[in-house]
Amino acid sequence: MPGPSPIRIAGAGPSGLAAAIVLARAGRAVEVHEAKRDVGMRFIGDLQVIEAASESEAVPDFLDRIGIERNFYFRPATWATFYDHRRVARTIRSTEPYGWFIRRGAEEATLDRGLLAQARALEELGTRGLLDLTVFYRLSRLKRRSGLAALVRGALAFWHHPALTAHTHAALLAFARAALADAGKESWKRKQYPVMTQNALRQLIAVSPELQTA
Ligand SMILES: Cc1cc2nc3c(=O)[nH]c(=O)nc-3n(C[C@H](O)[C@H](O)[C@H](O)COP(=O)(O)OP(=O)(O)OC[C@H]3O[C@@H](n4cnc5c(N)ncnc54)[C@H](O)[C@@H]3O)c2cc1C
Repeated sequence: MPGPSPIRIAGAGPSGLAAAIVLARAGRAVEVHEAKRDVGMRFIGDLQVIEAASESEAVPDFLDRIGIERNFYFRPATWATFYDHRRVARTIRSTEPYGWFIRRGAEEATLDRGLLAQARALEELGTRGLLDLTVFYRLSRLKRRSGLAALVRGALAFWHHPALTAHTHAALLAFARAALADAGKESWKRKQYPVMTQNALRQLIAVSPELQTA
């Protein structure tokens, strides 16, 4: 029997990725749709501050509670220098962090890249597309093994994740691998082959014995 439809999230920003991670850990099927070609595209590795004064719960405690690892730049802000109208500087220090510095963008160690890695790790763990970021990536990446699995997961998501046997699943993977065998040779193939392969996978799933008897 097909399971419930996946939850579709628009945008792989911090909100979208954090929600996807939490939902996937809770056992829900999730698809993240991102319009841009990568995470954090409107930033350039710049520093931002997660402000910590508005909530009673400390930011690290909150991240722990929702299960977000700190695999990104994350440094406490415990002092700041203020200037008055005469440009006299005053440095104020706090015992508890008043905020946490993070970096934003597509670069290494940014919040965006860290959350994506956590989502990706869940995607790799998922047996049948628990978390599906397929639509997110440029198609040229789909030649990698993990890309093949993602391609199959994307096709399964189209049919709301039917319960296929391990044999059928392996056959679909083998088909995708063979179909993309020489996709890396020319740019049009890198773009078009994965699209055509996913369409073919959808059709193969539709005619699989499991679906016909479901
Ligand atoms: C210059 C600057 C400095 C900032 N500094 C701070 C700071 O110091 N501290 C702070 O707390 N906040 C700061 N902010 C605000 C902070 O960046 C945002 O609050 C935060 O990024 C919001 O996260 P989000 O996931 O909700 O949205 P976003 O980060 O905007 O992510 C939304 C994602 O959705 C995608 N998307 C949009 N529409 C669609 C669609 N229809 N389909 C698919 N994908 C779609 C976008 O491409 C984007 O990747 C700053 C913002 C800017 C611009």
